[in-house]
Amino acid sequence: MSAAPASRPVAVIGGGIGGLATALALRAHGLDAAVYEQAEAFAEVGAGIQITPNGARVLNALGLEDAAAAKGLPLEAVEPMDGLSGRRVARFDLGGQPGPPYRVFHRADLIDILAGAARARGVGLHLGARIAAVAPTGAFEAGPWRVPPGLTVGADGVRSRVRPVLDGPGDPVFTGQVAWRAVVEGEAPPVARIWMAPGRHVVTYPLPGGRVNIVAVQERREWTAEGWHREADPGDLRHVFRGMTGRVTGLLAKVDRCLVWGLFRHPVAGVWHRSSGDGALALAGDAAHPTLPFLAQGANLALEDAWVLARHAASGTLDAYGSERRRRVSRAIEAANANARNYHLREPARSAALMALGAIGRVAPGAFMGRLRWLYGHDVTA
Ligand SMILES: Cc1cc2nc3c(=O)[nH]c(=O)nc-3n(C[C@H](O)[C@H](O)[C@H](O)COP(=O)(O)OP(=O)(O)OC[C@H]3O[C@@H](n4cnc5c(N)ncnc54)[C@H](O)[C@@H]3O)c2cc1C
Repeated sequence: MSAAPASRPVAVIGGGIGGLATALALRAHGLDAAVYEQAEAFAEVGAGIQITPNGARVLNALGLEDAAAAKGLPLEAVEPMDGLSGRRVARFDLGGQPGPPYRVFHRADLIDILAGAARARGVGLHLGARIAAVAPTGAFEAGPWRVPPGLTVGADGVRSRVRPVLDGPGDPVFTGQVAWRAVVEGEAPPVARIWMAPGRHVVTYPLPGGRVNIVAVQERREWTAEGWHREADPGDLRHVFRGMTGRVTGLLAKVDRCLVWGLFRHPVAGVWHRSSGDGALALAGDAAHPTLPFLAQGANLALEDAWVLARHAASGTLDAYGSERRRRVSRAIEAANANARNYHLREPARSAALMALGAIGRVAPGAFMGRLRWLYGHDVTA
C-alpha cells in the first residue's frame, strides 16, 4: 500500500515540536497533513530550548529560516564551569562552522513559528483532540473526529498511545534524576554555561528579551508525582542547590516560579513503522526515543525525524524510515547519558576531570565542535 493513501491527510497525533514539524515536513513533500493535539491550544512550557545546527537545518528546509533568525538568539560558546567555585573550566567556541548557527529560543516562540506556518500552509489543526486508542490501521477517534484508516504518525511524546501498538507494552523507567526549570529576568553573555557539582548540575543561557533560562538537575531516588512534571516550590529549588557558587545561587534567588520534571529513560523503539490493512502507523520524536536533556537533542532529533519521515512517506513507503533513524538517535542518546555521569562526578574523579577539561579547552578550543561534528554537522535535508 501507499504510505500515504490519498483518501485522507496523514494524521499526526501530538502538536508539540515533533508533531508540528512532521506536519510541515509532509506539506513540504507535497502530502496533506492534519494534527490532532489534546490541549486546547498549541503551547509549550515557559522555558528555553537550544536548537543546534542539525535541527536548524530542518527549520531552514521548512522555510522558517527568517522566523528562526528573528526569534532565536545565537550562542557563541559552551562553557563548562566549576559549580562550586564558580570558576570557568573551559570555553568551547560554537562559531566558525559551516551551516546555520546554534540558537536558543523561548519554547513558546518556537511553537508559535511552527503552528503559524502549519496554519498558513493548510495543515488541518485539531485542538482538544485527545486520542485514547489507535488501531494498527491508523484509525482513531478523538472528540468529535472519527479518523478512518490511513497513515497515522504518533508524535505524542514520552507517554505515547501509538508506541505500544507498534512496540508492545513497556513503561519508561525513572533515571534517578529530576530537572527543575525556570526563567528569570536578567542579562547573560551569549553562551551556554554548565555548572557542574557533585550529584548536581545547572545549565544557564540567555533568552531573547533580557531573560536567563535555568535547567537544574538533581540526583534523587524517587519520583512519586503522578505526572511527568509539576509546579514546584522555588524555596525547594534553592534548598537543593544551596552550596553552589554564588553565581548560580544568585540566579536561583530570583526564581519566583519553577517546574520540576522526573527524567525517564525508555529504550529507543524497536519498530518505528508498520503497515496494516488500509493504513499504517509510524513514530516520531519522544514517542520513539525519549532523550535525556544533557545534550539538548530531544527536539533536534524530533525535527530530524520529521524530515526523514516525510521524505520516506513521499517516496511511497516508510519501510526504511526506522532503520535510517535508529542508529543516529541511539548514538545521541548514549552521548547524553554519558554527559549525565560526567557532569555529576564526585571526588577524586571530579578534580581530575575538571583539570583534563581545562587542558583540552586551552590546547584545543575547537575540540567541542570537533567531537560533536557527527551530531551538529549532520544534514538530514541534504
Ligand atoms: C529539562 C529539559 C530540557 C530540555 N532541553 C532541550 C533542548 O535544549 N534542546 C532539545 O532539542 N531538546 C530539549 N529537551 C527535550 C525536548 O523538550 C523534547 O525531546 C521535545 O520537546 C519532544 O518533542 P515531541 O514533539 O516529540 O514531544 P512533546 O513535546 O512531548 O509533544 C507531544 C505532544 O503530544 C500531545 N499528546 C500526548 N498524548 C496525546 C494524546 N493521547 N492525544 C493527543 N495529543 C497528545 C501532548 O499534549 C504534546 O503536545 C529538554 C527536555 C527537558 C525535560
